[in-house]
Amino acid sequence: MPTDFYELLEIDHNATDDDIRRAYRRLARELHPDANGGDPHAEERFKEVTAAYETLRDPERRRRYDMFGPEAARGAGQGATDPNAFFGGGLGDIFDAFFGQSPFGGGGAGRGRTGPVQGADLEVVLELSFEEAVFGAQGDVGLKAPVTCSTCEGSGASPGTSPTVCPECRGAGEVRRVRQSILGQMVTSAPCSRCRGLGRIIADPCRDCRGEGRRTEQRSYTVDVPAGVDHGSTLRLTGRGAAGPRGGPPGDLYVHLSVSTHPRFQRDGYDLTNVLHLPVSQAALGAHIEFETLDGTEDLIVPPGTQTGRVFRLRGRGVPHVNSRGRGDIVVEVVVDTPTGMTEAQEELLRQLAAERGEVVAPVESGVFSRIRSAFK
Ligand SMILES: [Zn+2]
Ligand SMILES: [Zn+2]
Repeated sequence: MPTDFYELLEIDHNATDDDIRRAYRRLARELHPDANGGDPHAEERFKEVTAAYETLRDPERRRRYDMFGPEAARGAGQGATDPNAFFGGGLGDIFDAFFGQSPFGGGGAGRGRTGPVQGADLEVVLELSFEEAVFGAQGDVGLKAPVTCSTCEGSGASPGTSPTVCPECRGAGEVRRVRQSILGQMVTSAPCSRCRGLGRIIADPCRDCRGEGRRTEQRSYTVDVPAGVDHGSTLRLTGRGAAGPRGGPPGDLYVHLSVSTHPRFQRDGYDLTNVLHLPVSQAALGAHIEFETLDGTEDLIVPPGTQTGRVFRLRGRGVPHVNSRGRGDIVVEVVVDTPTGMTEAQEELLRQLAAERGEVVAPVESGVFSRIRSAFK
C-alpha cells in the first residue's frame, strides 16, 4: 500500500492544484462508501486518499510534506487529534530542521530565527614541540575561511546601494499563517521564501561576493599558546571563525593542539616523570648526579642505600600551571641496574664483597650457573 500522498492520488510530483483536485474527485467517486456497498477496503482507501488530498491541496502543507516526507505528515493523514503528531515532535523540530539545513552555514537552534545569521565555527590543528607546550609559544595557523567582503563591507549590496526591508515578511524573516485544518486552528511559521529568512532583499548584489557579503580567502593567524598546555588542549579564538552571511557576526576558531613526545620525559598533569637508572655502586654508596631538566642541569643527590622504586622530586621543575602561578615537579623514579658483562677482576671484587657480607653465591666456573652461561655463549 503506497504511503506517498502523490502515489495515493495517482499523480506525479509536479501536479498542479487543478490536477490534484481532479484526481481526488475521480478517486472519491470511485471509492466513496456509498458507491461500494460498505466494502471495508474501499472505505479505508477513501480515508487515505482524503487525507492525502487535505495535505496536498494546501500549498503550505504540501511544501512541508515535500520537505519532510510522509513521516512528518503521517499523523495528519491518519486523522490524529494531537497537532504535534503532524510535526513529529513539536514545532521546535521544524525550526531546527530548517535552520539545521541552513545554506548559510552556522546558525542552528538558539541563535534566533531572524536577522543576521552567525558564521560557522571553524577548527584547525596546531603542531607544537614538547618544550613549546611546556613553556608557551607563538604558533601560526593558516586556513581558508569566509571573510567579510571588503567591497560591500558585508552588506551584500553593490557599493552605493543598500539592502531593503523584505516586503513579504516586513523584515521579520519568517512568515506566520493561521489556518483551519482537520486538526483545528493551526499557526504555522516558516522562513520567508522571498528573502530566505534574512529579512532583507538586495536588488543590486555586490559583484565580488554575489550578494553573500563574504568571500572565502586564505587567512593566517598568530596564536599565543600559553605555557602549560598539553596535547589535546583546545584554544578558542573568538570571532576568528567564518564571517556570517550579509554582515552576520563571525563564528569562533578552535585551535586543537597536537604536542610531540619527549625522548626522556612523560607528562602526568603538570608533573614530568622520568626513570633514572643507577648502577649498584652509586645506589649503595650514594652519588651526586648531573640531572638534565628542561631548564638546565640540576644536582640530584642520591643518598647511600637507594633502592629501586625510590622517587625523587625536583620541585618546581615541571610544567607551569596554565591558569595560575606555580609549576609542577619533575618526578624521578630510580631503577638499580645489576652489573652485567663484568671482567674477571670486577667479578673477583664482587665475590669478595659477597664473602665479606656472608652471602652465598654460585662458585666459579662450576655448577648450574656456569652451565647456563656457557649454553648462551
Ligand atoms: Zn560584497
Ligand atoms: Zn522576507
